[in-house]
Amino acid sequence: MMSRVLSSLILCLLVNFLSAQSNLFVPRNYEKAYEAGSRAWNGKPGPNYWQNRANYKIQVNLDPATRFLSGTETIVYRNESPDTLKRVRIKLQHDRYRKGATRAYDVTAVDVEDEGTVLESVAYNGVEVPKDQQRRNATFLDLILRDNPIPPNSEATFGFKWSYTIPPDGAREFALDSSFLIPYWYPQIAVYDDIRGWASFPYTGQQEFYHDFSDYEVAVTVPNGFQVWATGEWQNAKDILQAEYLDRWNKAHTATVEYVIFSEDEIKSGKVFKKGKSHTFSFVAKDVPDFVFAASNSYNWNATSVVVDDATRRRTFVSAVFNSKSSDYREVVDIAARGIRLMSTWLPGYPFPYPVMTIFNGNDGMEYPMMCNDASTAPRSPMMLTVHEVSHTYFPFMMGINEQEYAWMDEGWAAFFDYMLCDSLSGHKLGRIRDYSSIAGTDEDVPPMVRSSNLSSAYRNASYQRPQSAYLTLLDLLGYETFHKCMKEYMNRWKSKHPAPFDFFQTWNDVSGQNLDWYWKPWFFEWAYPDLGIQGVVKDEAANCSVIMIERKGNLPVPLHAEIKYADGSNETFHRNAAVWKDGKQNFNIRCAEGKNVQSVKLGLETIPDSVPEDNVWEK
Ligand SMILES: [Zn+2]
Repeated sequence: MMSRVLSSLILCLLVNFLSAQSNLFVPRNYEKAYEAGSRAWNGKPGPNYWQNRANYKIQVNLDPATRFLSGTETIVYRNESPDTLKRVRIKLQHDRYRKGATRAYDVTAVDVEDEGTVLESVAYNGVEVPKDQQRRNATFLDLILRDNPIPPNSEATFGFKWSYTIPPDGAREFALDSSFLIPYWYPQIAVYDDIRGWASFPYTGQQEFYHDFSDYEVAVTVPNGFQVWATGEWQNAKDILQAEYLDRWNKAHTATVEYVIFSEDEIKSGKVFKKGKSHTFSFVAKDVPDFVFAASNSYNWNATSVVVDDATRRRTFVSAVFNSKSSDYREVVDIAARGIRLMSTWLPGYPFPYPVMTIFNGNDGMEYPMMCNDASTAPRSPMMLTVHEVSHTYFPFMMGINEQEYAWMDEGWAAFFDYMLCDSLSGHKLGRIRDYSSIAGTDEDVPPMVRSSNLSSAYRNASYQRPQSAYLTLLDLLGYETFHKCMKEYMNRWKSKHPAPFDFFQTWNDVSGQNLDWYWKPWFFEWAYPDLGIQGVVKDEAANCSVIMIERKGNLPVPLHAEIKYADGSNETFHRNAAVWKDGKQNFNIRCAEGKNVQSVKLGLETIPDSVPEDNVWEK
């Protein structure tokens, strides 16, 4: 009896152990997280999953005339990790403008500063941190807390008084005339996680977001005449807007048509705001990884709302805030609202998580929680840019992926969404495939599992082109129903958490019921490229039919799509998903119907990358 129990126990453990093993290469630091139970081999957060979080209270003053920004800030930081933190890492992302800072892109000489963020006060649990316990490097400020560390499951308070002048020509910051969008602006605690402790890659202007989920209460003071837009819900509209404009603002929150909250002429007329020398706009945002704000005394504000969850009838308030010269921006509210609806119901097919979304007419194409800084694209349609940036709400914000290390976990998805959604929204062919084919298989085509922080010129292809193709191929492979089931469960499991690559791979394996490691491996881990070719067409005399011989030359598994013309004038479209190459097969024969003689064959589709198109056509 005992031995039977024991042997079945051993068998059970062995099965668990085997199923726990991945065919994919798992770096040793990831294995540690699985052993500690913070992550699980089936792709779920582990029983011991943890992440730290913070509450931010910030008062900030913007002087538009001098572009001077000054703030006071209190952070209550909760250490949920099993570790005692003897050091805390603060991000001062504005410091990428400091002399000598590491930068991925040039900045204009007028933007370079001697000091970066000026810190007037840095306090820890109410006590000023001595200068010799502050270490500042790149965009980080490390506070050494050796004498008074933060134990596990406890809270600590940080206080900052800081200021800087907004760079006049910044590429991510926007400051033109009297309109501003201010990102990367306040002292923010870096992520301490179960994979590698404190995040160690500074903000250089390229590898973007990785922040903990936090709650924010932010008060922005500006001179009278300025409106402020921000991450979060505006709390005190009734104290600032005159009745007519407050009424429009209120109505737009449940509207199905587009409202003009105010036009350029109206905001300039002085009729919009209540009396006073200045106004303080207060915002609350819950469970977001970052906070940005914008201000203007001359922009138009249009808005509407859209139902994002049919079960609860929850709505999102959607705004476009823009310069009158940006003719394309007249379309943006409509595009954003319809786009958010399609994202909520089709792809990714998950209710839009935020109550507010504002697309601000700045100088960039950049996402932030509940806001975008989008340049005008006129005379071209603003659709692709709008859809792309708004779709980032899901990745990397709702799903707090580490974009500094695995940008394919968000940029690849945003590129997939903008391609998939734009045709439906526009009613014609508008979606764009990033050109992966021409770069694939060169030494610029680095496997996406190489950390983004290790990439420079290879960053874009590994983050956008190759993963966009990989996700399109995955959709073709699984079909919408299974694809959506995997996506939804991935989002349910990891919403407001920090999924790592293996959590993604394993969740999709788990939910699809298929071991897709054969697919993940070439697309994400290996040097590879896509190339199918027609070897030739032969006649099978015994079966009286033509046989089209297809060869897989590059080792990426892609769909096999052929348009066949027959000698009798008929046509056939032949399509197999990437699973035809699943077992490492290098050849596939298309067997035509009895009596059919092939006149010509053409391989390929817009969504199927192919690095050598010359062998995709065969003619008799
Ligand atoms: Zn993007």
